[in-house]
Parts: sequence; C-alpha cells; structure tokens
Amino acid sequence: MCSAPAGSREHVPPRCLFPESKDIGGLNLRKELITVPSCAAHNSGKSSDDEFLMMSLAGIVGNNAIGYRHWTGKVNRAMRRSSYRVLNSTVLKPKRIERLVVKENYFIDAIWGTPDLARLYRCFEQVLRGLYFHDCGQRFEGEIRLIPGFIKHEPGHAHTWQKSIEARYQHEADSMPRLGSNSEVFYYQRFPPDQFGLIGYRLCLYGGVDVYACLIPVTARMPGNLVLR
Ligand SMILES: [Zn+2]
Repeated sequence: MCSAPAGSREHVPPRCLFPESKDIGGLNLRKELITVPSCAAHNSGKSSDDEFLMMSLAGIVGNNAIGYRHWTGKVNRAMRRSSYRVLNSTVLKPKRIERLVVKENYFIDAIWGTPDLARLYRCFEQVLRGLYFHDCGQRFEGEIRLIPGFIKHEPGHAHTWQKSIEARYQHEADSMPRLGSNSEVFYYQRFPPDQFGLIGYRLCLYGGVDVYACLIPVTARMPGNLVLR
C-alpha cells in the first residue's frame, strides 16, 4: 500500500472472512492463509474495514453453505456486539428489510439497498495490492479498476457493461488455476498481462461473490481511448 517500513504481517484477504472451525463443525478453513508485510498504519487502521467487508460479503444471498454458516456464526455474534451498527453501515439509504419466502416455512430476512461501494472498492483494492505483492514479491505501481460481479444492476448501461466484462473473464478463467488453500471461502485467479500490459484478477468468495479487477501498471502501453473514468 505504501513505502513505509513493514513492522508486521497482514492477512490477504482479511482473516475474519475465514470461518472459525467451531462454527463449521471442526473443519479447518484457515489453512495457509496468505499474509504480506505491512506498515503499522496500514495494519492497525484496517480492523473496522475488515469487519465491514466480512459483514458485506458473508451474508449475500447465493453464497455457499460455508458463507451461510459464517454468517450465522461469527458474523451474527459481531452484529449483536455492535448492536447492528456495522451491519447498518454496509448498506446506504434507501434501504428496507424484506422477508423472502424461499419455500414453505423457509424464509430469509434480506436487506435491500445500495451498498457502500466506495468503501467496498477501497477494501478490495487493498486485497488486490496484497495479492499482487504475494504473487510478484514487489509493490504494484499503478491503478486498479474493479467490477464487483455480485452487485446486481437494474437493466441498462451498467448492467450490459458488467455482463460483457464477466463473460470475457469467465471464458478465460476456465483455463486458469484457482489459487488459495481454502477455496470454499476464497480463491483467486490471475491472468497473464495482455498486449497492453494489463493484468486481470478474478476473486471468488463463498462460491458466490465474484470480483473482477484490472491492474493497470504505470508502464502499461494504453491506447488513450481505453482509459475511462
Ligand atoms: Zn503502509
């Protein structure tokens, strides 16, 4: 994240995203977690973001059973401890709570609203810079663009754009290895640099939360019209 001297190591992605074994019937899904060196400021300043990320992701409808059990275990305890303050911070207004009936006598209470995208992007950018360091042994110098595949747009331009990016990544992703030792919780795929020097990453959490990222090194040979804000 910065060039300050590292005094400790930081988990990438944050350790709290990985369920504790007591919540998942004794399974160990915290094997060989990835860590990278971190300065004191970036490590200690991150704990509330880590909790925010955990709350934002673990309970997303469509996740696998591990995500669901993490949600009903550790995440639920953290929510009660904070009197739902952190949960409320994950979704900005407007929001409403709605009971979804899945089938008879089986329902989920869901929060609908607009996620705090700026904060989510910041959290994922830290994860991506950490993974890059883990893969390449040096800091990433450049810009990162993110497409959070788990955010569903209304039909329209954003929706169409997201679908076309996803289709491209998924096509390539089939042939790339899945990295990470606890794939039910988290794995990632890294695509070799393309003709412009751009590096693609795909992250997948709890089997259902997909994030696509494009790393644009300062040295990338970009045609000007491709760099859109
Ligand atoms: Zn730092």
